[in-house]
Amino acid sequence: MVGAGQAGLSAAYYLRRAGLVPYDGYVVLDGEPSPGGAWRRGWPSLRLFSPSQYSSLPGWPMPVWPDGPPPAGHVVDYLARYEQRYDLPVVRPVVVTGVHATDECSGEQRPRYRVETTGGTWTAEAVLSATGTWERPFWPSYPGQRDYAGQQLHTADYRGPDGFAGQHVVVVGGGNSAAQLLAEISTVATTTWVTPRPPRFLPDDVDGRVLFDVATARAAALARGEADDGGAGGLGDVVVVPSVLDARRRGALAAEPPFARLTRTGVAWADGRTVDADAVVWCTGFRPALTHLSPLRLPRRDGHPVTDGTRVPGLPGLHLLGYGDWTGPGSATLIGVGRTARAAVEDLLGTGRRDAAAG
Ligand code: FAD
Repeated sequence: MVGAGQAGLSAAYYLRRAGLVPYDGYVVLDGEPSPGGAWRRGWPSLRLFSPSQYSSLPGWPMPVWPDGPPPAGHVVDYLARYEQRYDLPVVRPVVVTGVHATDECSGEQRPRYRVETTGGTWTAEAVLSATGTWERPFWPSYPGQRDYAGQQLHTADYRGPDGFAGQHVVVVGGGNSAAQLLAEISTVATTTWVTPRPPRFLPDDVDGRVLFDVATARAAALARGEADDGGAGGLGDVVVVPSVLDARRRGALAAEPPFARLTRTGVAWADGRTVDADAVVWCTGFRPALTHLSPLRLPRRDGHPVTDGTRVPGLPGLHLLGYGDWTGPGSATLIGVGRTARAAVEDLLGTGRRDAAAG
């Protein structure tokens, strides 16, 4: 297993439950110095979309956070205790630098992968990659970006609004990160919100619980062979968490269409309009962190490797877990990843490779 965030831990839970021996039968290699995966890296005010009861991994429910959706620190604690509770064989910090298919990784022979890491080389019959997206913030490129003299930062670098007090800030992006950062920054600065299309807010009473129900219905529909309705994407993009609701009440959620370029002092639209800004905050998302799989030269479609569920066609024993809905409905969420992890592990073990899943 590569990655000990929520996805890697969920799969490790099912491997343990299937009777694989920790360290001998499977191991989880994680690049972070301590537990929590991406939740260690969020900004200080980051909270979940849903109450703890709707944010649990398989086996052990997340302890209740009494005051609405829990903060990221509560998730970090939960993941740390989850590792301990199930005595999961996590080895850290170990960064996997390259996964290579050996000559035995084809035909009727048992597949072998060579896993190169900062802590030595491992061999494995199967590799589950669960490395998330946080390592790969996506920065779009715009004309003039290098000439802009103000500050530019990505969601991944954001640590709170204080440094923006009294400034004018352009926030770019139409998703939840953008809406939440805008809501917070607009309490101390004037803001311009730039979205690729008019923002689509979910109804005020929709939170992660409803999103999970929608993802569950989608999973069931796909399993029945029905057409994909896109799941929660059809409902809207932005969850109206309390800070976003407050921003709406303050009139801070008006959005502008994309600008054409950056200038030395701000941004400029194609119609000639300009806005001067002290900072541009790029809330433009993340991409799957898959550099370690580049030796395998995986075919790609829609910006990610081609998969059949979590399985990578043509490479037996290689699975991708988490990342986004393309590995399974809701699999990039706390409550949704267990279902996909279970299916991935059952798929792996169902092929008879019971004696080693990684390591
Ligand atoms: P991660 O948590 O990123 O874990 C991956 C682990 O793999 C990390 O520990 C990393 O260090 C390690 N790793 C990466 N590369 C390597 C390598 N080469 N070698 C070894 N280790 C490696 N979901 C919800 O359910 N509710 C929410 O409210 C919610 N809010 C979100 C808010 C934001 C701003 C974001 C970005 C996401 C949110 N999500 C939410 C989505 C989701 O829960 C997270 O993205 C989640 O962290 C994904 O879990 P993961 O285990 O797939 O990846």
